[in-house]
Order: sequence, then structure tokens, then C-alpha cells
Amino acid sequence: MLLTADLILQFQRCSRRAFLDTHGDPQIQDPRSDYLSKIIKDSQLHRRQVLNGYTSDRIAYPPGDWHRGAQATQAAMAQGVAHIENGVLLVTTDSGITLLSRPDLLTRYPGQSTWGNWCYALTNIKLGKRPKLEYQLAIAFDAYVLATLQGEEVPTAGLILREKGWYEVDLDRVQPQMEATLAACIETLQAEEAPAVFIARNRCGLCPWLSHCYEIAQAEAHLSLLPGVTPNRYAQLKLLGLTTVEALATSSVASLEMLPGFGPEVAEKMVRQAQATLHGRAIARIVRTFNLHREIPTAGIELYFDIEAEPDMNLAYLLGVLAVDRAAGQHQFHALLAETPEEEGQVWQKFLDLVGRYPHAPIFHFCPYEATTIKRLGELYNTPESQIEPILHRCVDLHDRTVRTVTLPVESYALKSIARWLGFTWRDSDATGAQAVCWYGNWLATGDRTHLTAITRYNEDDCWAMYHLKNWLIEFLSPALAHTA
Ligand code: SF4
Repeated sequence: MLLTADLILQFQRCSRRAFLDTHGDPQIQDPRSDYLSKIIKDSQLHRRQVLNGYTSDRIAYPPGDWHRGAQATQAAMAQGVAHIENGVLLVTTDSGITLLSRPDLLTRYPGQSTWGNWCYALTNIKLGKRPKLEYQLAIAFDAYVLATLQGEEVPTAGLILREKGWYEVDLDRVQPQMEATLAACIETLQAEEAPAVFIARNRCGLCPWLSHCYEIAQAEAHLSLLPGVTPNRYAQLKLLGLTTVEALATSSVASLEMLPGFGPEVAEKMVRQAQATLHGRAIARIVRTFNLHREIPTAGIELYFDIEAEPDMNLAYLLGVLAVDRAAGQHQFHALLAETPEEEGQVWQKFLDLVGRYPHAPIFHFCPYEATTIKRLGELYNTPESQIEPILHRCVDLHDRTVRTVTLPVESYALKSIARWLGFTWRDSDATGAQAVCWYGNWLATGDRTHLTAITRYNEDDCWAMYHLKNWLIEFLSPALAHTA
């Protein structure tokens, strides 16, 4: 069995992922998305830029021939080369497991090692901005392999993070955790069957096994497909024998609210979510203080606002506004697009002019991002607060209004999931915010305008999805709230 730092990293995220990466059929993996390709490319570029700052020897070996790579690396370390990049470290444990480490940079330090009065320290270069635990466990694994080879503790191990720079990993603190993770990972990989599926959006989104796992989860009507069921909460539900949507839907709130991580609100929400999913229908949450017409206003002219942004550049490059004139039965979509990053300020000004033309129109958006970006751009371009405040006052977050007032038979309260349940379809079914980031990068790199057309169409459809959601909320909630008045 071959164990790598990357496998430890994946295991930390999801034990099933490590198992499938080792034993799964690569034929059934999802094709790599453009967004994942972009992350990998950006990561390689970042690594190259950092390594260019060092005068180092690069180890060369045929792709995948770890033994040749390890021999060349050991020869370089035995010579005492100051900086070694692309090194390969191989160690076989007493139980016959091969540990493969590929640190980004090995740096010679004073010390006593197998090779003489020097030893090596480790550096890994990461695209992330935070020293995530999974990065620290991975470098602790590298340190374990290196220490075994050089017969000397690793003097220092650190991460070079994007923007944040050097972060020294406290090996004394992380090493015991890494050893426990390593043991658990070996146990999982030696098991006959893969760990059970648990779909968690934040970790499964970019996983190549998603379609495979999702199919299983759907066939089992797995509780992880219910919004709000986290791994910890699922573990608690399992202890009560509640592993199906039906069982949860017929549970009493009182039986759940004492569970760790629940409380009355979560318990009530979860039972209601299971009921909505089981019966495939929306359930109104009767909030007596909710004033429908104030919280989700209907006006002669309404604006639906959605931003496309490039997070790495901190750039809001498309401010899309759908203006709906309910009175005249007309609409117009405004794609305020920065064709170059330098145009963001002009686009911002156009946005201010546009929303200024409709001073009484509510501005619907989905999630807080649009409102926080209005604040950020206002500060960045010195827009007077007296101009920003009234705009923010007109903003209506439809995600907030949705989760406060209804429970829907959906797997997530993302706009896509909700609007699709309402029957809305995007013209480009594969488009996502992440894909739009790739399209914008491609536009900047190639000047091919089809990428801009695709982004604009996707953004407009997001605005239309919000429009349909808003109409549906009013239609669905009006009778329910009238009944309680
Ligand atoms: S899709 Fe999710 S559950 Fe399946 S292997 Fe990947 S991360 Fe794990």
C-alpha cells in the first residue's frame, strides 16, 4: 500500500474520498471541471513563482517512477545541496506500507543526520490563505518521512501561503494528530468496503466522486441530502435510530431538542424539513411578526441584482440588473460589465446611475454578497455614504426571506436548487458561479467574446430566477399570512 501526504489531506476531508482514491474505479470519476482545472493551474503557478525566488536543484525523474525520484533526491541530500525542489522521499514501514512524500522544497540546515553535519527542513507552498489543519497534517506527514530517512528530527517545517507568506507549523503539536490520522487512514484503506456516503456540499463540491456518491445517496434517500443535517447532527440522529427521511419527519421536536448541537429551533427546523421533503411540498413557517408587504415589497418597478466576481482579484466584474416594470409589463436587463479589471470603477458608476434612475424601486438580491459588495465598492470608489445608505436600505435579500418563511423540498437553499424546484431552468444548464469565474479568466486570456456572452446570459438567468422566486413567495405566503392576521 502506498500512502501519500495528499491521501492524508483527502482523508482529513473525507475518509470515503481516501478509500475511493485508492481502490475506486477511475472510469466512474467525474471529468475535471474547468474550475478545478483553474485552481490546479493557479496553484502550480503560485508554486513556481515562489520557487523562482530560490536557487535550488530540481530533481528530475520519469513521471510516477518514485524509486528513481527517491534515489536522485537522496543523492542530492547526501551531497548537501542547499535547496532541493521536486524531491521524492520514500520509506517503508515495518508493516510493509510505503510512505511517499513529495515536499515542495527541502532546505539544508545545520544538524546531525545520516549524511553528516547537516539535515533538511521542509517547506510546502499552498494556494490557500489560511494554514488549514489539512495542510498542517500533510506537512507533518512529510516531516515524519523525512525524519525517518535522515535519522534526525526535522528542524523546521512551514507553509508558504498566498498573501500571508510563511507560516511555521508547530510539529510537536500536530505530529500526534497526524499519527492518529495516519493510523485511521490505514485502517480505512485496509477495510473491505468504503466508508458510508455523506454528502456535504462544502467538501463534495469539487470531489471527482460526487456523481457516484450522489447516486448512492439519492437511492438511499440519505439524510445528508436534507439541508441542515451536518455530520455531527447525523451521528446524533443515528444514535436514536433516525436514519430515514420518514423517521425524522414523524419524530417529535421534543425528542430531538436535547441532542447536542440541536436545541428547539434546529430540532423544529429539521423535522419540518423532513416533512417538506417526504411529502414533496412547501410548508409555510408562520412568523407572526413577518410583514409580507414590508419585507418582500411589490412595486411598480423592481430591480433584480446579481454580481459576478473574480475572488482572487477581488473584482466585481459584472453588475447585472434586471429592471421589471410591473405596471407597463416590460423589462430590461442591464449587464454592467467591466471588460478589463480597470473598468470596475466605471461599471460601479453606471450602477449608481441606474439605481438612481429608479429611486423607489426595491433591489432584490440573493444572499448578503450583493449588499456587502455595494458597501465595499462605495468605500473603494469614495462614494458618499449619503448615496450608499439609501441604496442599501432598498436591498431585499430573498435568501433571508425564503429561509425565514418557508421550508421547501430541496436539497439546498441555494438559488439554483430553489428556482429549479419552482420549474425555472437556466439556458445553460452547466453554468455556475465558479464556471463564470473561469469564463472571465478565459476572456481576459483570449479576448474571445463568447465567454462574455455566456457570463451575461448566466447572470441574467440568475436575475430571472430571483424574479420567479419573489413572485412565488408572494403568491404562496399571502394566503398563509392572511390566515394568521
Ligand atoms: S463526493 Fe463527498 S462523500 Fe463522496 S468521496 Fe467525495 S467528498 Fe466523500
